[in-house]
Amino acid sequence: MAKQNHSFNTRSIHVGEEPEYLEGSKGEVVAPIYLSTTYARQEVKKHGQFEYSRSGNPTRFALEKRYASLEHANYGLGFGSGLAAEATLLFTLINPGDHIVGFDDLYGGTKRLFNQWKEKYKITISLVDATQPKLIEAAFQSDTKLIWLESPTNPTLKVCDIAAISEIAHRHNVLVVVDNTFLSPYFQNPIVLGADIVVHSITKYIAGHSDVIGGAIMLNDKELYEKIKFNQNALGSVPSPFDCYLVLRGLKTLSLRMDRHQSNALAIAQYLENHPKVDCVYYPGLQSHPQYALNIKQAKGFGGMVSFEIKGGEKEAVQFLESLELFTLAESLGGVESLIEHPALMTHASITKKEREQAGIKDSLIRVSVGVEDKDDLINDLEQAFNKV
Ligand SMILES: *Cc1c(COP(=O)(O)O)cnc(C)c1O
Repeated sequence: MAKQNHSFNTRSIHVGEEPEYLEGSKGEVVAPIYLSTTYARQEVKKHGQFEYSRSGNPTRFALEKRYASLEHANYGLGFGSGLAAEATLLFTLINPGDHIVGFDDLYGGTKRLFNQWKEKYKITISLVDATQPKLIEAAFQSDTKLIWLESPTNPTLKVCDIAAISEIAHRHNVLVVVDNTFLSPYFQNPIVLGADIVVHSITKYIAGHSDVIGGAIMLNDKELYEKIKFNQNALGSVPSPFDCYLVLRGLKTLSLRMDRHQSNALAIAQYLENHPKVDCVYYPGLQSHPQYALNIKQAKGFGGMVSFEIKGGEKEAVQFLESLELFTLAESLGGVESLIEHPALMTHASITKKEREQAGIKDSLIRVSVGVEDKDDLINDLEQAFNKV
């Protein structure tokens, strides 16, 4: 049986799927997909481990165990999408009048969710540059409930000091949420660094094959876990058993994929940094990155996301993007295939131009989710597209 002190690779393959773990198991090496929506009981007043699939499902149960294990958390919860996880968390934690402090460079959908809550429930939000922990502290108010971080951020790949910010937050009795989607639990474990809650868009690296929409929450606090679990059922923000199976399967190769995403991303970042048609490159694995040392201190890797500004503006960016042959022009990230996109016109179009400018998302910015293909093929494709601009 896999134990918590086994290495990441061992846990990512075994936890939750040990044959002896599954009740009534026939020794399956792979957790079965339990499609039944309901479970028979012997007695009217008593149900077994499972009752109704929204409140609990054996395939999801196996996956939630693995989620907890990978982030070194006591508890894990699965959701139908990253945003379903985030919405369930906000619904559980935030009351009218509360204040949230967030990184000014958060995922666009998270900002959109915050804005919905702001108008409906009269909460206040301060988005600040969390690369400077003192700005986080300065933003605190008496009604601050939580801090919402990403590291590295999307799409400008800024890195914040999770341990330092958690320490400040806990002095003020404020909870720290870290969206750990970009590095995945293989490269970074925010709870070990002092954060209270981790959220993931499972859709990205964890599922890893661009064929599942999913989300997760991991945390240590039992009382808070019970509340979120209650709302996971009450809101119905659950993943399907088939998707849980795909994620259990995808997780088995997470470390292999992340290592390749990263080595390809570093090669591409170095190529871009030396390219005459590139203004600047954002990648935490480059020594030129302002938080290069901090990222080394708190994480085991830099990940597979690279952003850069092409010389010129929207016209040059669009021309470049539409000339690529191997890279797929698409939103999303974290799959085995390389994807590329224009944040201002695509992923971050849902936030205002003013907010985009504040977050440094220029019209010349291009974001790359570097896949696990052969790096020479990827670089050759970038080169031929640059030649057409
Ligand atoms: C994609 C993404 C989300 C939202 O997740 P979905 O699964 O698309 O709902 C949240 N945070 C980050 C950093 C993401 O990349």
